[in-house]
Parts: sequence; structure tokens; C-alpha cells
Amino acid sequence: MTSLGVPISIATARVRMVDTTGVMLVKSAPFIQPVQKGHETLSLYVAAFLIDHLPSGRKIMFDLGVRKDYWTLPASLQKRLGTVIPGLRIDKDTTEILQEQGISLGEIYSVVWSHYHWDHAGSMELFPATTELVVGPGFKSSPSLLPGYPANPDSPIDARALAKRTLTEINFDNTGLIIAGFRAHDFFGDGSFYLLDTPGHCLGHMCGLVRTTGGTDSTFVLLGGDICHFPGCDADRNGLGPKMTPFYAISTDPTSAYTDPAEAQQSADNLIRLDASPNVLVCLAHDETMLHSLPTLNNSQTDDLNNWKERDYKEKIHWGWLNDLARDGKPSRQPAVDGFWRDGRLWVEGKSVLLKNGEAASKIGL
Ligand SMILES: [Zn+2]
Repeated sequence: MTSLGVPISIATARVRMVDTTGVMLVKSAPFIQPVQKGHETLSLYVAAFLIDHLPSGRKIMFDLGVRKDYWTLPASLQKRLGTVIPGLRIDKDTTEILQEQGISLGEIYSVVWSHYHWDHAGSMELFPATTELVVGPGFKSSPSLLPGYPANPDSPIDARALAKRTLTEINFDNTGLIIAGFRAHDFFGDGSFYLLDTPGHCLGHMCGLVRTTGGTDSTFVLLGGDICHFPGCDADRNGLGPKMTPFYAISTDPTSAYTDPAEAQQSADNLIRLDASPNVLVCLAHDETMLHSLPTLNNSQTDDLNNWKERDYKEKIHWGWLNDLARDGKPSRQPAVDGFWRDGRLWVEGKSVLLKNGEAASKIGL
């Protein structure tokens, strides 16, 4: 067993990153604290991951990003879309990116949602009924989520995503496996891919842990989802190590995007153990540096992340978040997107209304 509690195995899975082309501008206060002058907004890019389990021939998508036609999202989300997000743009649907790279949607055995939020759930209904949907604990028994919109008019879940397909909920209760302090589930049963129970952001949030090279000195890629939204919340990225408090914390503001900020902070603190390991590459769903410095499926069908250690990818993305910080109280860079975009053009009818006082970002689900 490794020091993180991962059983030794020689089984690996191949992992490729997908740039979903989604980008949104959000207010910082619901996500991080303290908010520094000149850093009042965050530009969030959106990554997804394609996992190949070679022994079984199964392909999995971990998250799908934002659906390109976001104006067809369930009514409860559309109503609130302008309240927390001043800008949103998606150029291509993740399904299009897969198909452009020669991967048919029928090849995807499972889609795992790190969590059910719309910026991760994608256009699930475009996958054939043979593609199973995998969700975290509590999803199936939540009356606020199921049966989904429109039967449940306030649900953020699009019922089209669930129609005629197998919905699998991961149960972490009796696995007997703890990795870096998180309850874990061995997805393929051979140690190549684990799901981790990482609560705090919203109901059923999970991370993925892909074994990228096997044996006693195995390496891993951690698919972080929204365990935190900004790499600066990770103490290891502050050069502080696991026993120190990072400069940024999970937002406890009344507008927080985390339904349970204390639990989310605990998950972020556990994440530090993973990021402090030289054998784990931590990939947060909204990390721009990662998306723009590492190879993506969009650019290459063959370039995966499995050789990340010999290519120094961890060092490459470790400090990128510093570029987002303000300099002398002034933004260090332009927002990545402003206003709402459709089909490559600014959608002028779209409203850009800022978060109302006291309205929580967790209500819209980011
Ligand atoms: Zn997100």
C-alpha cells in the first residue's frame, strides 16, 4: 500500500484531458476568501477527462463540461444564470470534440459526473442509452433532484439526461478503502481507477483517481472536479506543505458556492495530502493553467497524461494560479469572457445581472 493508502497494483488506465471550450466569469466571493482588491472575479475554464480501461476495452468520460446550448438548461438554472455569472461562452459541445477525434459516443461505456452541476453535466442525452450515468451518494434519493426537470419544475437535473439509461449511484459505505482520508471505490476492481467521496461542494461530489503507471512506485492523476475551484486554496500550491494553512480558504460567505463550507474545507485539506505527493498530479476542473499547458484530446488523439511525471507536468502547472492574482490592487489580466455568447457571438439580449445581495451561488450550483 502506498503512503496515501492506495493498494499496490500494476493495472493502469489511460487518461486524456478534454478542453470542453467552456469558459465563464464568476464573482470570487462565493468561491474563495479572502477576496483581494483587483481579484473580484475568477475566469473559470472547464476540463473533462477521457479514461480508457484497456483490459476491458471500456471508455469512460469523467464530466462533460457545459452544454453548448446552455439556453436549453432547466428553467431553475436559466432563471438564475445571470445572477452569479456575468459571462459564459462555449464554442463546442464535448460530444462534438469526441466525434472530431474519431471517438463515437457509443464507445463511451460510462459517464461519471463528479457532481450534477450544469457546468459538468454536459449534453448527456446525446449519448446512446447504452452509456450508463454514474453519480455520487445521495443522488437517487434526493427529491429536489429527481425525477428531474420538467416533471420536477425546480430540479436542476435535465430529465433528458436520465431517459432510458442505467443510472448507477456509487455507494462508499462498505468498501473498506480509504485513500488520503477519503472513502474510495475501486471502479474496475483492479486498482486502475478509483472514485473518492469528496463532500462539501454539493450532494454526492466525487473525485477520480487514475493510476497512470503501476507497481510499487505507482503514479496517479487526481481528477478533482470542484473539490475546490481555485488552485490557490491548496496549501501545497502555496509552498506551505500539508501542516500549514493556505492563504486562500473555501468561501464561508453567505453567497458561498459550497453547500457545506466546513466539510468542503476538510475535503480541500485532504486534497493537500494528494498534491504534496510527488506521485500525484492534481487536475482541478476549472484550472486554466492545466488546460492551457498540458496536452488535450482537442489537439492530439495520442497525447495522454500518463507520462506526466517524466514530462514534469506537475511543476508546469503548480504555480500558474499566481498569474491570476492582482498586482497593486489591479487585475493582472483581462476577464476571459464577458457577456453571454451563442454560436461564437455575443448574445446581446442576454442579461448580465450580478449576484443579488445574500443570494448563494450554491443555489445556482457552480
Ligand atoms: Zn464547476
